[in-house]
Amino acid sequence: MCDMKYNTVLEADAGDAARACILPDGVKWIWFDLDDTLYDFAASSLIALRHVYEKYNFKRFFAGENVWFETYHRHNAALWQLYNRAEITQEKLRFDRFYLPLREGGVEEKENLSLNHDLDVVYLEALGATGLLLDGAKEALTHLKSRGYMIGILSNGFSGVQHEKLRSSGIVHLVDRIVLSDDIGVNKPDRRIFDHALRQSGVSAGESLMVGDNPDTDIAGALRAGWNAMLYAPHSHDASVMVEGMEIPVLHHLGCVLNW
Ligand SMILES: [Mg+2]
Repeated sequence: MCDMKYNTVLEADAGDAARACILPDGVKWIWFDLDDTLYDFAASSLIALRHVYEKYNFKRFFAGENVWFETYHRHNAALWQLYNRAEITQEKLRFDRFYLPLREGGVEEKENLSLNHDLDVVYLEALGATGLLLDGAKEALTHLKSRGYMIGILSNGFSGVQHEKLRSSGIVHLVDRIVLSDDIGVNKPDRRIFDHALRQSGVSAGESLMVGDNPDTDIAGALRAGWNAMLYAPHSHDASVMVEGMEIPVLHHLGCVLNW
């Protein structure tokens, strides 16, 4: 009753997935991006944006929560691209990601300016408090620690809220080093943050692996610094992706590291 062709495809997929999840020889330190790699940023951000919407009665400005979400995400994504390229400061990003959507929603200038600081604080507090991890994240870190690997976090997020995410999600005790762009003033993919992380670990680039969901920042940066890299892409159908002219394995689920 089995369709032979279908079975063959399944076996090929399983083989690709297994190959994609092999730890490169000699790796001692495994560095993870935090947002959307370990921490469920997408779900947490939605909760935080909904909290802001209700607390500040944003239905005055937007025709429903979804319009607010869409407007915020559109501006925020564009601002993060600029921030990751070091074209705007963190202050500018944190100001404009509320200022611009509210201006679009017709909020008058005076009210927009007076709300800005509170929105930044309330949003980041709610974002860090959810404690939501991606499926398999805690089990993966627990396993890697038990096997003697050293674990680092390498993130472009903001210092206060990133530490709060590690605490609220109950993984801070599994992490040996936290390196944030905030701490040294450069963002991934700038290789200086990878070199800084390397000095913190005391191992070589070849003994280091970066796991992250962003090809442009996590993966390209790691490769330029000479590290091993794997792309976490749960929705991808590919076993590998090309970044910087190199074939990079795709992790579809963090649970696959339980074989390491
Ligand atoms: Mg990320």
